[in-house]
Parts: sequence; structure tokens; C-alpha cells
Amino acid sequence: MGFPARRALTAPLAAVVVAGGLAAHAWLPSAAAGPVGDALYATLVVLLVALVRPRTRTWVAAAVVWGISAAVEALQLTGLPATVVAHVPLARYALGTTFAAVDLAWYAVGAALGGLLVAFARSDLDAIQVRHTRTANRRHRVLVPAIVAGVLAVAVAVTGTLAWTVRGEARDLRSTLGSARTALAQSKGQVADDATRTALSASIAAAESLLRETPILQRGPHDAVRAGDLVTADVDAVAASRLTKARSDADAALTALTPVTARATQVLTATDGLAVPAPPRTALSTALDAAKSATAAAAGLDKATPAQAAQVEEKAADLTAAARTVHQATVALLTATDAALCPYPDQVWFPEDGKIPDADLAPIPWAPQFRLRKDVLPRFVAMDAAFKAQFGHDLVVNSAYRSVADQQAVYGDPAHPNPEAAPPGCSNHGLGTAIDIKGITTPDNAQYAWLAAHSQEYGWYHPAWADPTGRLPEPWHWQADETPTGY
Ligand SMILES: [Zn+2]
Repeated sequence: MGFPARRALTAPLAAVVVAGGLAAHAWLPSAAAGPVGDALYATLVVLLVALVRPRTRTWVAAAVVWGISAAVEALQLTGLPATVVAHVPLARYALGTTFAAVDLAWYAVGAALGGLLVAFARSDLDAIQVRHTRTANRRHRVLVPAIVAGVLAVAVAVTGTLAWTVRGEARDLRSTLGSARTALAQSKGQVADDATRTALSASIAAAESLLRETPILQRGPHDAVRAGDLVTADVDAVAASRLTKARSDADAALTALTPVTARATQVLTATDGLAVPAPPRTALSTALDAAKSATAAAAGLDKATPAQAAQVEEKAADLTAAARTVHQATVALLTATDAALCPYPDQVWFPEDGKIPDADLAPIPWAPQFRLRKDVLPRFVAMDAAFKAQFGHDLVVNSAYRSVADQQAVYGDPAHPNPEAAPPGCSNHGLGTAIDIKGITTPDNAQYAWLAAHSQEYGWYHPAWADPTGRLPEPWHWQADETPTGY
């Protein structure tokens, strides 16, 4: 038996090893595919050495191959293989791109296996040769082509499976990319951390770039799966960040809604029984009911999952819209009440007018029968001290805060009201921020002149309607800057 016959079995074995390597790459998890691929790579090279140099002793071939493999692995420390792969993509299957010491052991296992296979091929052919000497050449003519054909069939099947796998992975990745692009578009301006969108954008771009590469040569098995896993992880991060922002928006909307509904309820209660048109009261009631529903619908948002971020956003938007509607309906009712009850534009109706809690009022120190709102009193006291330094006595208080009953008494019979008084609910004396000074009856008065020149230094002023040229000249009436004049 000669060397060509030995080649006849070594070549199919090499093909089987190639097919096994491709199959391992396609089907094994990457943690196992790497070591198995490294080992089979060494096995293949031993078989190739036996093919090219049949006279080489088996153990020498195995040892040389291990040495070469180790040298190639060590070469990866230089970065040269990465450069070669960048120019010749196919080289990735031969060179690899990263160094791992444990690979040296796998090369040893593979080289040993190669040695065993070469020994098997030679002994088996020797056996075939023995049988041939005893029998006709017929069996030999059939056996070798049958082995070659079988191995080729396996190789074709494995390569086809590999191509099919890579193609299927690409299809899955395209589908993943479709939903990832949607997630990216829908999350614009909706995430707590915009870095999550930047990361998703980058992983989508990387996956798109991978899909443009040549299958098998540049895009091997699992490459698309890995890219898809990265994209999916980034989609999850965007969804989580979107939920974080939606929850925070919903919390903020709930917090903002609370004082708005409290004010609306106060206005609604205060207008009960007043001569106010019904439609704005009904509208405010309806808006409050809607706000209550939106609040109830937003219960349990802290249990929402990232997949429900859009619903949480919707509920946050509902709460914000409810607050806006309630506020608008409140202002409409205030305006309607003002129009019905306060005859002049400079008079503004407030629900708390004449109903300031005692705790928010404080007596004027030198005239304790009169009270002002606690927060505006200190500056009135400071103004009085400066006034006293000029005139030798305190400001003489004639009127300060008035309750609803006080204002009713001043206003008198609604049929024949006091022309100098505002109706209950319309006077800023009822807000605890206005004062009347006794002894100032005309503008050509030294006290009036002093107050006109200095009151602003203390946060007090004379309103335009009470000016000498105003609607109702009242030189004695002064009020604090904090007095509200609108809603
Ligand atoms: Zn007054």
C-alpha cells in the first residue's frame, strides 16, 4: 500500500473535522464552541500535515502543530491577527483575535486527537491493504469513494445548515431592530435618563452595520444573536427609564392637582347660596368629579411595569389636563361671582374675604381692637415707627380687618348700601391687608403726604381707585403690597 492510499482516508477525516468545527460553531453555546473550535483547528492542521508530508512521524506532526498553534495564539498579544482579519475577513476562522492562555491546552488536546486520527488512518489503510492482498480489488474500489462521498455529503449538509442558521439569525435581528426603532422613536423626550436612548441608538446602528456584512465570511453564527441581545438589553433600559419619568411625571401631576382641587372646593363652597349664575358652578363640580376620577385611575401606578410606561404617561397627562380644567373652571366661577356681586372693576371677589382664620390674624400693638394679616403686620409696625418719629404719635387706626359680618354692617342694607363701602366679599379689608387711618380726610394733609412719600419703603401703597382723581377718593385707605387684585 502506498502513500496516495493513506491520503485517501486522511482527506475525508480532515473534511469531517472541518464539518465538526462548523457544526460546533453553529450549534454549541459560545462558551463551548470556542474551546471545541480551537481543539478541532489543531486536529485539522495535524491531518493536513499528514496529507502534505506523509512521511512525517505522527507524534512529531502533533508536537509541531501544537507549537505553531501556541505561536499563533501568542501572536495575538501583538494585535497583528486583528489587522490581518480586517483585510482578510476569512482569516478570522484561522487566527482568532484575542489571547487566552487556556487555549494552549485546547490546542494540545486537538493536536493529540489529530495524531490519533492519523495513526488510525494509517493502520486502517494497512488493514485494508492486507485484505486487498487476500481478495479482489473490488472492495477497495467501492469503499474509498463511498467514504469520500459520505464525508462530502456531511460537509455540504453542515455548510448548508450554517448558512441557514446565519440567515435565520439575521431575520430575527431585523425583527428585533424593527421594534427597537419604534421604542427609540416613541421614547423621545419621555425618558428620565437620555443616555439610555443614546446607547440604544448606538446598538441599533451597530446591528444595522452587522447586517450589511457578508454572511459567514464577516458575519458568523451567533454574531447577529449577540447584536440582537445588546439591542434588546438597551430597549429594556429605555423602557425602564421611560417608566421612571412617567411615574415621576404622574407624581408631580398629582402633587400639583391637590392645591388646585382644594381651591376649587373652597370657591364652590363659598359661592353656595350666593346670587351667582348656576352654569359656572355646575361646570366646576363636573371638573372636580373628572379630577377625582383621574386621581382614582392613577392609583397603583407604582406597580406598573416598563411595558406599561405608555399607560402611566397617559394617566400623568390626564392628571395634568384635569388640573388645568379645574383651574380654568375655578377662575370662571370666581369671575362670574365677581361680576354678579362686586359692582366695580377695582373690587375683586375672593372666597376667603371676611373669613380669614384667627390664627392668620394679629392685633395691631397700639390699637389691639384692630387686626391685620399676620404676615403684613411687621411692616405696618415698622412704617408706624417712622411715622411716629415724624409726627410724635402712632398712626390712628380707624379700621383694619373686617369679617363678613363687619363688612355687612359697614355696607348696610343691600337695597340702600353705603356708597363708600364695598359689598361683602369684595373689600380688601376682608383680606386683612387694608387699613383706614383716622385724621386723613383730604389729600392736602401732612400725614397723607408723608404716607404717599414713604409707604412704599414699607411695602404699603395707596390704590389708584382711592386716589384724589380715582373712582372713590379715600385718602385714609392704604393697603399692603400682598393684597391680591386678580386670580
Ligand atoms: Zn378702607
